[in-house]
Amino acid sequence: MNPSLPSVTHSAALTTAQLREWDNEHVWHPFAPMSAYREENAPIITHGRGFELIDSDGNHYIDGISSLWCNVHGHAVPEINEAVRDQLDRVGHTTLLGLSSDVSIQLAKQLVDITPDGLNKVFYSDSGATAVEVALKAVYQYHQQKPNPEPQRTTFLCVGNAYHGDTLGSVSVGSMDVFHRAYRHLLFSTVSVPSPVATRVEPGYTKESWLQYCFNRVEQLIAENHETAAGFVIEPLVQGAAGILVHPPGYLKHVRACCDRYNIPLIADEVAVGFGRTGTMFACEQENVRPDVMCVAKGISGGYLPLAATLTTDEIYNAFLGRPSEGRTFFHGHTYTGNPLGCAAALASLQLFRDNHVLENGKNNAAVITEKLAPLADHPHVGEIRQKGTMVGIELVKDRDTMQPFDAELRLGHKVTLEARKRGVIIRPLSDVVVLMPAPAMPTSLVAQLCDQTIDAIHAGSPGGGGGVGRTTL
Ligand SMILES: *Cc1c(COP(=O)(O)O)cnc(C)c1O
Repeated sequence: MNPSLPSVTHSAALTTAQLREWDNEHVWHPFAPMSAYREENAPIITHGRGFELIDSDGNHYIDGISSLWCNVHGHAVPEINEAVRDQLDRVGHTTLLGLSSDVSIQLAKQLVDITPDGLNKVFYSDSGATAVEVALKAVYQYHQQKPNPEPQRTTFLCVGNAYHGDTLGSVSVGSMDVFHRAYRHLLFSTVSVPSPVATRVEPGYTKESWLQYCFNRVEQLIAENHETAAGFVIEPLVQGAAGILVHPPGYLKHVRACCDRYNIPLIADEVAVGFGRTGTMFACEQENVRPDVMCVAKGISGGYLPLAATLTTDEIYNAFLGRPSEGRTFFHGHTYTGNPLGCAAALASLQLFRDNHVLENGKNNAAVITEKLAPLADHPHVGEIRQKGTMVGIELVKDRDTMQPFDAELRLGHKVTLEARKRGVIIRPLSDVVVLMPAPAMPTSLVAQLCDQTIDAIHAGSPGGGGGVGRTTL
């Protein structure tokens, strides 16, 4: 433990019981079936120290999902704390509407330097969903205002099972049925290409022929829709929320090439994969792809504060220039756009990436994960282990041969995370996909421990396992 950090103490005034009562009474948790949540006595986190979370009873847990995919260097990192504190002593928030701030300028310069060539302009917002929303609106308006306008370009192409956030625009370009169902009539229509993943294939296909079909199909759909295509939105290399679906090599490059043929802007949503998760700073680098627009959020501030950015090319930005009275302005902004505390945390985070060789550490961690999880491949209920860098999805299935899922009623992925919790590990599943997402800077020994405990939790949680959870029901 770093000696410069205060020790962990708990306020005597509020007991866990009191906090839990008020939690159940007043807090509506995101993506949570609340009636089940209230029965579960979820830990109430009061502190984070390094790569551990500490609850109101003093229990320690490894943060196995980077506090929902955003933490990079650990919690209460002295360098980031100091940067935020220093900024706090200067000013906590000022607006970017008509003013600027030193830290937002410095961060924009650094983001342009580290992202793929051609992305020279930075539009700030405060979450992944808003970063995508900004991308969609900016690109849509761009076609109306560019030198040879194409106002008929009004349709977005996107990938099946994509996830881009929860605002209505980002839900529209996403295609996860459970998120869509209730809001169908509020969403705009899109053209969806099949997700290039062969975990399960349509009848009549082998894994290889299915992937080939996906490559052909995206090419065909882009050709068929090129006149009305406003942009192609993609999560590069890995579809996170869909269950850590890893795309085959060459797919991103193929999409870029197809879009180039018809001047369709490529929007890379690097909200999950950016800032080291896949082994490189940004996923696009691995295929040498230069998107026209790139959305970043989650890891940008090291996972400390809500901050996001949408980067664009000069070509897109230039279409918004002109006399103010011409009305070419991008009429979009959020109150806390480019918040200085978030920018200060982000600058400190980027410095730590350099000082601590975080990408290298992440690569070592990825190798350890692969090695540690290899024995799980023989587990009777492990259908597939998917991994890219330090993003991992272990899919649990009832039948490995047919990839038949478990009855959703069982909430098996959830049960495994409860088993993990007993073993001092915080993870969160995506249905029956057990997700591991250790911070890129996590020490390798802790990553190994995370893997060991997760394997135990899967054994204990799955039918026939040592813990007997659900054993009697199957
Ligand atoms: C998490 C995520 C988002 C949404 O980010 P929020 O900050 O939760 O709004 C968008 N796109 C991808 C790929 C994500 O994983």
